[in-house]
Amino acid sequence: MKLLDGRAVSKEILKKVKEDIDHHIDKKHLGYNLSRPSMAIVLVGHNAASESYVRAKTKACEKADINYKIIRFDENISAFELISEIKLLNKSHFDGFIVQLPLPDHIEPNSIINEISAYKDIDGFHPLNFGKMALGQKSMRPATAYGILKLLQYYNIPTNSQHVVVIGRSNIVGKPISIMLGNDFEVGRSTVTSCDIHTPKELLKEESQKADIVIVAVGQPGFLTADMIKEGAVVIDVGINRLESGKLVGDCDFDGVSKKADYLTPVPGGVGPMTIAGLILNTYEAWKMKNLIDE
Ligand code: NDP
Repeated sequence: MKLLDGRAVSKEILKKVKEDIDHHIDKKHLGYNLSRPSMAIVLVGHNAASESYVRAKTKACEKADINYKIIRFDENISAFELISEIKLLNKSHFDGFIVQLPLPDHIEPNSIINEISAYKDIDGFHPLNFGKMALGQKSMRPATAYGILKLLQYYNIPTNSQHVVVIGRSNIVGKPISIMLGNDFEVGRSTVTSCDIHTPKELLKEESQKADIVIVAVGQPGFLTADMIKEGAVVIDVGINRLESGKLVGDCDFDGVSKKADYLTPVPGGVGPMTIAGLILNTYEAWKMKNLIDE
């Protein structure tokens, strides 16, 4: 079994993004001096997991030499006030920004996401970007799905004509990865079975046992067990769960699955860093779009 090292692949992607930005800045563009890309991160309240994700995102910005700013708001901010801030960010100099989820319970996340300019939506969650992505058009791509595809591509894992089972159908992970794998992304077109909590347990198991690639994103430790996959499968574990002991684990029974799978993403160090790579790639795209750089 080979571990898919998201940390190492992400590092390479960030290095390449930095070099590409340097190249454009050195070359100048249309006779202008370009400033480096910039990202803003909106953080509401003090969620411990969010703080740690934001730290990882700012570290990635530093590696890619992308300017960033964390913009903090009190957890009692109203949805109306937050939307006003988003509208200001839409008009700001930042090439892209994210609103770190989850938001406090009194703020419905879609009411905020829908207000983000689609051009600055580097998480790829805005309905316009999601729609374009679903139609196979150029768009900001949902960052986790984008990162997973880049990881598969890096390891030359074929997806064209492969049977993929995606477990979990959230708007930010399960749904976009199911759609992107069924589209002509750079890695080809898969046959995708998408499962969620409404999928009968036995049917889910029957399907996952036949799959060449299983992507699990449910948020439950130990959900995917060895008896649910075939020998030699590729397993992408998206889950991030913190156990009472403080240990971080994914959605797989790692010990069992690692004995049967050919490839497996570790948690931490698998999909997490690739999500951040997806975010950085989207920021680079937003910057190129704003500066009319066409490659
Ligand atoms: P959500 O809770 O939004 O979605 C979970 C999905 O799993 C839902 O579609 C749900 O179905 C489905 N589900 C729940 N229980 C079952 C079950 N027993 N059988 C089949 N499907 C089930 O979570 P997210 O998609 O946001 O995140 C999933 C996990 O991935 C979490 O651990 C999260 O922390 C992690 N994550 C990791 C990222 C990374 O970068 N590595 C990025 C984002 C998330 P239904 O909708 O019907 O309830």
